[in-house]
Amino acid sequence: MRDFAQDHRWLSINTATIRKSSGADLPLPAIIEACVRKGIRAISPWRDQVAAAGLANVSRLVRDHGLALSGYCRGGMFPATDAAGLKAARDDNRRAVDEAAELNAACLVLVVGGLPGALQGKAAHKDIALARSQVRDGIAELLDHAKQARMPLAIEPLHPMYAADRACINTMEQALDVCEELDPRKSGENSERPQAALGVAVDVYHVWWDPKLQQQIARAGKERLLAFHVCDWMTPTTDLLNDRGMMGDGVIDIPRIRGWVEAQGFAGYSEVEIFSTGNWWKKPHEEVLDTCIARHKSAV
Ligand code: ZN
Repeated sequence: MRDFAQDHRWLSINTATIRKSSGADLPLPAIIEACVRKGIRAISPWRDQVAAAGLANVSRLVRDHGLALSGYCRGGMFPATDAAGLKAARDDNRRAVDEAAELNAACLVLVVGGLPGALQGKAAHKDIALARSQVRDGIAELLDHAKQARMPLAIEPLHPMYAADRACINTMEQALDVCEELDPRKSGENSERPQAALGVAVDVYHVWWDPKLQQQIARAGKERLLAFHVCDWMTPTTDLLNDRGMMGDGVIDIPRIRGWVEAQGFAGYSEVEIFSTGNWWKKPHEEVLDTCIARHKSAV
């Protein structure tokens, strides 16, 4: 397992973590400058932030600073109630792949979606099996485009509390079942292309509780472990989405999980992804970044 105690060369900042500074919106160019000033070598930006700053502008900034992208957030949200909705999701996901390729991201993260309409407050139906089959079909279709663009797709299983509104893929096992069905790989195939076209993003917030976690990380192997996201689970958690903790402040044994991931050969960035309306988004972003760096060394 890599020693993170000495420096933060393997720290990546998911830009949601400092999308607000002292409660005010922080635009992506300012986020990038702040990360560079702290010697952070990688980020994972969100599409809305990139769109607001302009893709060409962000692409130039990333290149000029020699920044890596540990991922690009995000594609997915495949389920819909009609053909027009499914087509809109397909078109939007293709654009997300193209943007990720332009930014030279390590992968496009997929938050696959749940029951159509649930995120807006009213689910159109209760058929989660239908949603899951639309997710499968959506990923299958996107995979062709992603392979042409040489952009790996990383399915991020979300905690089951998000099954209705954000993602009906809720465990590593479920995600890997989809990977193996849509992107089967034979042993010995991996020498030229170390990463699969379809894999997983392991976010400790979503999967730490899973009794099969170690086993499923081993099943994924290096080829399908495309991203590693960290934050912490607070007790109590006061908001389902926006009360994620700083590493070390909660109950997740992050070093243990990183050990499992690295035992498979994962050697990428450890990406800090914290949504925190009540705490970290209220603080100055410099302080948040300093804390991320310190906790990367002591609690990851
Ligand atoms: Zn994540």
